[in-house]
Amino acid sequence: MQTIYTFKSAFLIYVKGRAGGPVIIGTMQIAPPYPASAMVVDPALVRKHDVSGPRYTSYPTADRFTPAFGEAELKKFLKARSGTQAWSLYMHLPFCDTLCYYCACNKVITRDHGKSARYVEYLEREMALLEPHLGEKPRVCQLHWGGGTPTFLARDEMQRLVRAVDARFQRTDDFECSIEIDPRRIAPGTLRFLAGLGFNRLSIGVQDFDPDVQRAVHRIQSEEVTRAAIEEGRASGFRSVNLDLIYGLPKQTLEGFGRTLEKVIALAPDRIALYGYAHLPAMFKPQRRIAEADLPRAETKLQIMTTAIGRLTSAGYVYIGFDHFARPDDALAIAQAQGRLQRNFQGYSTHADCDMLGLGVSSIGRVGPTYYQNAKTLPDYYAALDAGRLPVVRGMELSTDDLLRRSVIQRLACDFRLGFKTAEAAYNIDFRRYFKAEMADVAKLAEDGLVELVDDGIVVTPKGRVLVRAVCMVFDRYLREKRAGATYSKVL
Ligand code: SF4
Repeated sequence: MQTIYTFKSAFLIYVKGRAGGPVIIGTMQIAPPYPASAMVVDPALVRKHDVSGPRYTSYPTADRFTPAFGEAELKKFLKARSGTQAWSLYMHLPFCDTLCYYCACNKVITRDHGKSARYVEYLEREMALLEPHLGEKPRVCQLHWGGGTPTFLARDEMQRLVRAVDARFQRTDDFECSIEIDPRRIAPGTLRFLAGLGFNRLSIGVQDFDPDVQRAVHRIQSEEVTRAAIEEGRASGFRSVNLDLIYGLPKQTLEGFGRTLEKVIALAPDRIALYGYAHLPAMFKPQRRIAEADLPRAETKLQIMTTAIGRLTSAGYVYIGFDHFARPDDALAIAQAQGRLQRNFQGYSTHADCDMLGLGVSSIGRVGPTYYQNAKTLPDYYAALDAGRLPVVRGMELSTDDLLRRSVIQRLACDFRLGFKTAEAAYNIDFRRYFKAEMADVAKLAEDGLVELVDDGIVVTPKGRVLVRAVCMVFDRYLREKRAGATYSKVL
């Protein structure tokens, strides 16, 4: 076999620490990966391994959270973790002017902009309730506004929210501030205004520029409007632009999506997310407006995906994993090459594995060895805060087994490789014995060429990269126990 290993990198490992959460205990050299550019899509393998599975933005996945984890538990872990590290903040801003039919987000469709003023006030209340549990002068290394449509907020509301954060948290030197925008709905100068507030990363939903597809999903967004937003963002000092694309949408064709890809590559975003559309109308009501007859057939969807990956990698983008691509000089690609990439609720992150406070309706947070989620509806969210309570409604404390499996899944998803020795040292296990059943499944994946078993670990091959979710799923204990009951989108 051709030897194409190029560099070594470190594998961070975690164990339950005194502060009640996972802490980095050391690094160890492990089996090196294939070069970042090594990427092969084998349609036969994709067909064979196209099974339902989670995206692993958390492990365990959110469907394992329970109401037994509530406000008291969250406060206990906040106290244990306060002062140990800088926080990452996620704020969910749920309002949108119009409905996109493919939408699976927690959102509120309204044209009444008065609604966001009230919501901002409640976000401030939530921060005020959290403040006493975060210790002296808490630091913040990341702030992300997701939605919904964060730019639904009026400028004074955005400013008020940022000031509320700055009043309680001290920004770190490498502070990252990102926002999802809808370019159809922003007035000229909005991005300059946001840059003035400290935002430096931008994410724009495109999905597909084909007019037929846009009509079918009720999202008309011209290339010009998208380009204008990117240009204003760059001119204002945003240092990274991400574009979201979706394949598998109604009326989509190989030719039409090919034209979209050309336009997207010409716009030269730093990052691209290429999601597969999962049609689950029983779970997501807006999707009932999509005619199933308009959806591309599985084989067409596969061709679109294969072509898209080929075009993007030929254009110089590095496949990061799951749905994400980045330019080789982007921080995500650099972090991956250096073995310090993390997977979190926003997909991938370059920041050290930090705790995340989820603020706003439906937000999920991660504090030490726990996850929690806020109330999913505005009335429930408001009612909790009116009663002076944190709006957390469910969550879980991870067991040692959960933490071990989370670190295994993280490394596979981020590095495309996994070293056994580090996990053995951190968790005092014999990896092959502890994961006997899992390793039997890994051996089957190795027979198909998705992974290679090396002396001290597992290496995901160029053919296995696009199917890394299927490799991660092997180590998901809950899926193994109850595979039949789960409802997830397919790998592709
Ligand atoms: S896809 Fe985004 S903009 Fe469209 S309805 Fe959903 S949250 Fe709103």
